[in-house]
Amino acid sequence: MPAESPDVAWERLEGVLARVERPARYIDSEWGAIRGRDGAYRAALAYPDTYEIGQANQALAILYQRLNAEEGFAAERVYVPWVDMAAEMRKERIPLFSLESLAPIAGFDLLGITLPYELTYTNVLELLDLCEVPLRAAERTDDHPLVVGGGPCAYNPEPMAPFFDALLIGEGEEAVLDIVRTHREAREEGRERAEVLERLATIPGVYVPSLYDVVSDGAPMNARPPAPDTVVKRAVTDLGEYRPPVCGVVPYMDVVHDRVAIEVLRGCTRGCRFCQAGMVYRPVRERVADDIVREVMEGLACTGYDEVSLTSLSTTDHSQLEEVVRRLTSRLESTGVSVSLPSLRVDAFSVGMARLLAAGGKLPGLTLAPEAGTQRLRDVINKNVTEDDLIDAVSRAFAAGWRRVKLYFMIGLPTETDADIVGIGELVRGVLSAAREAAGPDRGSVRVAVSVSTFVPKAHTPFQWLGQAPLDEILRRQQVLRDAVPRKGVDLSWHDADVSLLEAAMARGGREVASAIEAAWRSGARFDAWTERFDLTLWREAFASAGLDASSIAEREFGEEDVLPWAHISCGVSPDYLWREYERAVSATPTPDCSFDRCTGCEVCRALGIDLVVGGERRGAQ
Ligand code: SF4
Repeated sequence: MPAESPDVAWERLEGVLARVERPARYIDSEWGAIRGRDGAYRAALAYPDTYEIGQANQALAILYQRLNAEEGFAAERVYVPWVDMAAEMRKERIPLFSLESLAPIAGFDLLGITLPYELTYTNVLELLDLCEVPLRAAERTDDHPLVVGGGPCAYNPEPMAPFFDALLIGEGEEAVLDIVRTHREAREEGRERAEVLERLATIPGVYVPSLYDVVSDGAPMNARPPAPDTVVKRAVTDLGEYRPPVCGVVPYMDVVHDRVAIEVLRGCTRGCRFCQAGMVYRPVRERVADDIVREVMEGLACTGYDEVSLTSLSTTDHSQLEEVVRRLTSRLESTGVSVSLPSLRVDAFSVGMARLLAAGGKLPGLTLAPEAGTQRLRDVINKNVTEDDLIDAVSRAFAAGWRRVKLYFMIGLPTETDADIVGIGELVRGVLSAAREAAGPDRGSVRVAVSVSTFVPKAHTPFQWLGQAPLDEILRRQQVLRDAVPRKGVDLSWHDADVSLLEAAMARGGREVASAIEAAWRSGARFDAWTERFDLTLWREAFASAGLDASSIAEREFGEEDVLPWAHISCGVSPDYLWREYERAVSATPTPDCSFDRCTGCEVCRALGIDLVVGGERRGAQ
């Protein structure tokens, strides 16, 4: 890799920036960026999408903070250049560089890439190629950076396994330091890449794909020592021990989630049976109110933002949320700073909370997720809200001043019939009528947005054994839905079923899918999550060239005794529990939330040796 001074690199880059869209994506020195660290060991942290999508990613912000706080280590950031910039870089032979030092990524010790969702997989290959790092781990030498993955999609790592030297399963606060220290130590001892990988495989939570052989479809992976047969996720015991990255980077351009974000709790034990995040991030660990308030105030002071978001999978479940919001709104009175929550649970919604949130001047968006149209199907998926809860929440919100509500639903759920889809229409009609009644004379301004996605059966959930409904059937059900949902006052939108099919194929596939992903990238697939870039025909051809069929993989069903493609990865929740939950789903039997009720036996607390942390107190599994 040619060593180029930052000034020379900038000169070459500057000419290119004049010819591409949104050049601010590629410039450094944002407020809060950490530059000029003298780290002997350098890690590049990558988000596999554009700057404006990835900049706010909290997991990478945590790793950036942890590594840059460690003596002898430095972390810098990198995002995927949009297609125009990538073309210019290839033309001008500019290798992908880090934002902080404009240094070629191939010269770093480690390249860490998060895997936030399946539709970013081709972007990972694009990133590696622009970095001039071989796509496949097997082709890399001691001169290449160690390529380490992580994030939600690592829970079924197989479709991306050949492209990574190692993947971290679970939370990174502690594990990232274990990885970089082990790597540095092994290199200082002059160990070769294969030996480095063997050492990494002994770190709890680290999966080294090259040490696992696929014996045959349906057989367990053959783990070669010292790799363990099963890699169990890492999780921190107490979130409060890790200060969140409060003084984050403030971008020059508009990005998604452009505000201070403080993670107030991790994990969710509501037990929605379709939800992978709810299973893999267990157990619930709350940050205490005093810490949250202090961190929010610090974050606002050092970034200058006028909005703060209290983030988590289910923020309204935080046992001290009302206290937190009350204290924050009191301290922020007359400052113009608003406090937002990512989403509100139907049953946790209170007008008092809503009024507190509105104290910043504007009403926060009201987003509710009943997910299914009938009580029977909500019991199947364990979404423990009733139609009365929903109507009541909407009535109170619209009486308090709201005029818009967004409702999320899914179609293609297990056991779904047309009656359940028609039920979505009836529920929407009920919500619209309650909202109009509560809005009184202002009823004409009421709008209900209905967003419908297609169910994808994900790994490590009670529905992991089930296949996705066929594309034709999903398209038919979408028509049933269109006919059922009222038009006036309602904005109906849905996720493209083609995209969900591909998502399912990549979420449920094994290592064989890697060839299809590589073929799709070689045919030009990039930024597949961007509607204008998605091309199912290209993908079908890519699967066919690898001897595969995307629909067959998406629709494939497994039996209880079958070895799942992700069976060697454990999130701590036992497969027996997931199967029991599947059986309860079939009989439409709800399971309570262990944060509010007794332990329901998912086993994660025991498997990881950690407890629920609620209201500052630890509560182990009974
Ligand atoms: S082991 Fe019990 S207490 Fe812990 S998360 Fe699972 S159900 Fe909840």
